[in-house]
Amino acid sequence: MNKTFAKLVPQPSFSKYLEADAVAENFTRQVSHVHFSFTATKKPAKPELIHASPDLLQELQLEKLKDVDLDILSGMIPFPNFKPYAMRYGGHQFGHWAGQLGDGRAINILETKINDTPWTFQLKGGGPTPYSRSADGFAVLRSSIREYLCSEAMYNLGVPTTRALSLMKTGDWVPRDMLYNGNQADEHGAVVCRTSPSFIRFGNFEILSAQNEIKELKQLLDYTITEHFPHLGMPAKETYLSFFSEVAKRTKDMIIDWQRVGFVHGVMNTDNLSILGLTIDYGPYGWLENYDPSWTPNTTDSETRRYRFGNQSNIALWNLVQLANAIYPLIEEAKPLEEILVKYKTSYSLDYHQMMCSKLGLSTFESVSEGFIDALNMNLEASQIDMTMFYRELSNREYLDFKSFFTALGTTSYLDNKTLLAKKKDWEKWFDDYQKLLEQEGMMAESRLLTMKKVNPKYVLRNYMAQLAIDEADKGNFELVDELYQLLRKPYDEQPNMQKWFALRPDWAMNKVGCSMLSCSS
Ligand code: AMP
Ligand code: MG
Repeated sequence: MNKTFAKLVPQPSFSKYLEADAVAENFTRQVSHVHFSFTATKKPAKPELIHASPDLLQELQLEKLKDVDLDILSGMIPFPNFKPYAMRYGGHQFGHWAGQLGDGRAINILETKINDTPWTFQLKGGGPTPYSRSADGFAVLRSSIREYLCSEAMYNLGVPTTRALSLMKTGDWVPRDMLYNGNQADEHGAVVCRTSPSFIRFGNFEILSAQNEIKELKQLLDYTITEHFPHLGMPAKETYLSFFSEVAKRTKDMIIDWQRVGFVHGVMNTDNLSILGLTIDYGPYGWLENYDPSWTPNTTDSETRRYRFGNQSNIALWNLVQLANAIYPLIEEAKPLEEILVKYKTSYSLDYHQMMCSKLGLSTFESVSEGFIDALNMNLEASQIDMTMFYRELSNREYLDFKSFFTALGTTSYLDNKTLLAKKKDWEKWFDDYQKLLEQEGMMAESRLLTMKKVNPKYVLRNYMAQLAIDEADKGNFELVDELYQLLRKPYDEQPNMQKWFALRPDWAMNKVGCSMLSCSS
């Protein structure tokens, strides 16, 4: 029997077993020796539901949202019998220790269990907390649409991620300097209810270690293992190591998926890495269009491009090193931690190779050389090929001769025909090698193409698509939000009536804010 959201039974866990801040007043401050602070949500002026995820409702075995559910999801009223709270964490931002950060505008409004699985529900944009620092605690419609659509799209692509249940306008105006260039403007306020088994980040451990709060560090680690990694056994030194090993593995698997679908997170600070290996905090993320490993959507990072597409695996490793340092006081042995980090690197290379082979429909990946994959990536980059369209065209049919392949390639390139023609020789060489590998495998084209279509999505949330939905939503029209939501429910399906979204990025989107340029302002 399905329930309504408001009828879920609160089962505090993080806020029951860990340490609460003794200060109850809500003002910005440094807190110590605790894991979280109780804090209430801010009542919105005139809340309005924009979208709710029917898929997530179904998964949670919940009925369609009722008025009382919406009152909770907008932050108007608290969830009955649950004390909302904000989590304390720190983080390395752009490679530098930033000290205490914490949930500056995310408030956990409910912890519960559904069929024994823990779920935490969190309002992003729910109002100021003790961790808001100099910011206001709110979120704008623009960034909330991006988080809502993308997290559900990632889920449907099979990428580990937090989910989004609802997207609401608050009816408040929120001032933002979108490009950090002194041009502040009022934007529509919004709030997303997102959910995850846990919102614990690498940074929750880092802050405790950095402040030498070792008792609280052990409490948090023991709690995390008992609640979220129970299969690892009772907390002890060896369990801490298996925990770290599993976090490394899950993080690696997540990055492999990002590379497979062309997702660039944009702000891989340690406070934005989930301990469960889930994609979290959708800010200035973006999707590769023309294949370019040096691309980052985040203008704040345009100088060093630390978080560029081709660097995501290295950064994940860098972040894992910070996590290893953070839990080191509970292990006091560097070698086994280092071994896990080395293993991350070797298994990443292996899995990346395998993933790339799967995109090409090659299953005997041992016989595929790294050089062959490198050559493909170089060609894709040099010819400015749209990543999503390329792999999908390759999955669409069998190319028996180079001519038909090169013609199809032309439809996926941002270069003009003449410039592309200059790359023909390189492609011919690669195509020959590809044909040989396919012959060696001898798999029926039909079944190969079928499996390729399951790893090469036809539709992703291209940067300009999200922006079109935002532009419409700013004018009060949410149809495109729904259209994109529906489209991205089945990203691997053909959906012939949606063919217009399987196309090269339009020229106007090249230098438009929100399409090619994004900042952390949200
Ligand atoms: P982010 O770069 O979005 O991951 O945020 C980094 C830190 O800034 C986190 O502690 C956030 O909670 C906080 N933060 C971001 N935006 C706001 C906001 N509008 N109000 C309060 N805190 C914020
Ligand atoms: Mg964050």
